[in-house]
Amino acid sequence: MNEPPIPPKGPLAARLRRRIQHLLDRVELPPTGLPGSLALSHSRCGKPSCHCADGQGHPVWSLTFMLDGQKHVERIPPDWVDSVRLQVEKARQFKEAVAEIFTTNAQLLVLQRDQSRAAAKRWKARK
Ligand SMILES: [Zn+2]
Repeated sequence: MNEPPIPPKGPLAARLRRRIQHLLDRVELPPTGLPGSLALSHSRCGKPSCHCADGQGHPVWSLTFMLDGQKHVERIPPDWVDSVRLQVEKARQFKEAVAEIFTTNAQLLVLQRDQSRAAAKRWKARK
């Protein structure tokens, strides 16, 4: 029969729980968040009379992201760049926070395992 796991105790457990609470309080899923990364490149339009013919080319912004295991590179209109950048950044922060919450939960799990093991040993020693 499995006994219910005892939540980890001590200052480390308390600190990890505070960290999770802090992240939960601060982080909100951004409904318009965007994946991937925004990048600037340059391309020549091919018109011989265009100034880009002997320059580095016209600036082209694109959003690169994965969809169904495939890389997509989508051109972004220049006047959308600021808002797209913000949506990418918000999504990145959200993903980072979620990953940190889960990692912190893993630390709590390890702590719980070690404390249960120590408790079991102490109990055995008493017998
Ligand atoms: Zn051009």
